[in-house]
Amino acid sequence: MPDFDVVVLGGGTSGSLIAAEVSRAGRSTALVEAGLVGGEAPYLADMASKSLLQSARRGETWEHAVARRDEVAGHLDDTAAAAQLAEAGVTLIRGTGRITGPGTVVVQPNPGKDSRSGPAAAAPLTLRYQDLVVCTGSEPVAPPVEGLADVPAWTSAEALTCPDLPRRLVVLGAGPVGCELAQIYAAFGSQVTLIEAEPHVLPGEAQFTGEILGDALRRTGVDLRLGSAVVKAETTDEGLALTLADGTRIEADRVLLASGRRPRLSGLGLEELGITAGPGEMLPLDEHCRVVPNAPGKAVPNAPVKTVPNAPGKAAPSAQAKGAAAGTKATGRVWAAGDVTAVAPYTHTARYQARIIAANLLGSTRAADYRAIPRTVYTSPSVYTVGMSPSLAAATGVDLITVSYDLAETARAQVEDDDRGRVELYADAGSGDILVGAAAIGPDAEEWMGEVTLAIRARIPLAVLTDVVHAFPTYGEAVGTPLRGLAQRSAGGGVAAGGGVAAGGGGPEDASPEAAGVAGPGTAAGADGSPGPGANGSVGADAEAGTGGDAGSAAGQASGALPSRKPGRTAHRGPRPGDHPTVTQPLRGADE
Ligand SMILES: Cc1cc2nc3c(=O)[nH]c(=O)nc-3n(C[C@H](O)[C@H](O)[C@H](O)COP(=O)(O)OP(=O)(O)OC[C@H]3O[C@@H](n4cnc5c(N)ncnc54)[C@H](O)[C@@H]3O)c2cc1C
Repeated sequence: MPDFDVVVLGGGTSGSLIAAEVSRAGRSTALVEAGLVGGEAPYLADMASKSLLQSARRGETWEHAVARRDEVAGHLDDTAAAAQLAEAGVTLIRGTGRITGPGTVVVQPNPGKDSRSGPAAAAPLTLRYQDLVVCTGSEPVAPPVEGLADVPAWTSAEALTCPDLPRRLVVLGAGPVGCELAQIYAAFGSQVTLIEAEPHVLPGEAQFTGEILGDALRRTGVDLRLGSAVVKAETTDEGLALTLADGTRIEADRVLLASGRRPRLSGLGLEELGITAGPGEMLPLDEHCRVVPNAPGKAVPNAPVKTVPNAPGKAAPSAQAKGAAAGTKATGRVWAAGDVTAVAPYTHTARYQARIIAANLLGSTRAADYRAIPRTVYTSPSVYTVGMSPSLAAATGVDLITVSYDLAETARAQVEDDDRGRVELYADAGSGDILVGAAAIGPDAEEWMGEVTLAIRARIPLAVLTDVVHAFPTYGEAVGTPLRGLAQRSAGGGVAAGGGVAAGGGGPEDASPEAAGVAGPGTAAGADGSPGPGANGSVGADAEAGTGGDAGSAAGQASGALPSRKPGRTAHRGPRPGDHPTVTQPLRGADE
């Protein structure tokens, strides 16, 4: 029975990083991978979707875009990733791992996967570990709809590896994945219907982001159906039909399931260690990314950004849990990183947690701080949100001071002739000298919102932030002006509360809070004046939670409509049914 210091279950983004780092530092390390070394991001998710979005922006044909996508995804060949692990000294074992008791994992060989590089377990193989790291990622969940299992359906991974361009595609779920894929397929000529049970796109995020993105999706040709869930699916002679709760019937050739994912926990044998999280639940995790034994899992909230797992000691130990004491023995330290933890399920979160676990395994004591994990949607325009959202503030009783600024007011928007977008910055009225959250939508928002992320994470005082000089002409100037408004407001600058007024006549250098669209505290839904978790300036781990009420009544969102500098503009002609199969509708400047 091979003995290892560290066994990593799952060799995706987080697992590969941890295994390589601790192995390079001299720990004997085995990594068990059931599929592709590297996981979802390089082959089946992030890179493939970003490649297709870029092809759409360039106006490439579908055939060209698919060829480029497959090239970017390495033709699903993980040889190079496996070689990097070998170079780091990691023992790669291909197969499906299952915990069989404290300190032991059994790997079952996967039939048909033997041709991949690296050793495959020919027969079940038992490994012993001192430390176990669970990095098994997440899996898509289909909504419980009558008949849905019987109609032609895609997961996002299937959609991003298939060469097909359906004539009529229905996308279920208008979260980040649903919006990106809806825009991709619509841009290449599919007749796309995007269905979301919530009343707006990107539920859980600041409402203005969903409103502006919804308009952009419509201009790409997407038919948006908001606020009504699918209740029935059936096959028809020509494909399939979905019935919505409001009675609407939608016909299509294929359904794409993008309505949610859950941590991949089933079949792992965690109960052998006294860890009771089941399918659809989050692992109980402490701030060091260590799994807390004997604490039951918590339901994964149905939101694009998940709550941070409960702190240790909140739940009573389960007397029935097998091996209840095992999780605390020397052979039983269990850690978890990436989507399986349900903390802000992004590749950058998986990498962050991986670095924390690697450091802790190598003798340091590092705690995760989730206050400023970016949440991104790479559509055109793109969406970047970070830290506290209005819906989280409403759910937790935090009074937000909100300032907003339309990108249309920047000189860069005039230069680019692309004025779609807006920025909102949030301070906690209880400790208004720092930023606690931000939301932006606009061209390449992910590239110019980094400073806000740093400001939230490092709790940089507003007085310092307002002294930062932004280059002219950049979209980054859209951050500078509202920051000055926020600083004035939080310093008691006498701005009337409840504004939410979008920037009017002020240019980028107009520092007045009115120009920056300042809204006072107390207008967020559910705000009761209580200090809430942010009262001491720290929003704590729960800042990443995306659950809670409708963000619609949050301060500063009254003017969330798409700003229009050019009222005379005609709407983009999206693809029509007869266009199929067709040449891409370029996304950038698609509303010209
Ligand atoms: C369509 C789409 C687009 C996305 N785009 C972005 C983006 O642009 N930016 C971003 O930051 N995030 C994006 N994400 C999210 C990102 O892909 C995930 O957060 C990230 O891949 C999670 O990494 P991970 O290490 O948790 O899991 P993964 O990388 O998924 O790895 C988990 C691995 O565990 C293996 N495994 C599972 N069970 C077992 C077992 N029992 N034994 C052995 N191996 C096992 C699996 O085979 C898999 O390889 C996207 C997601 C989707 C679906």
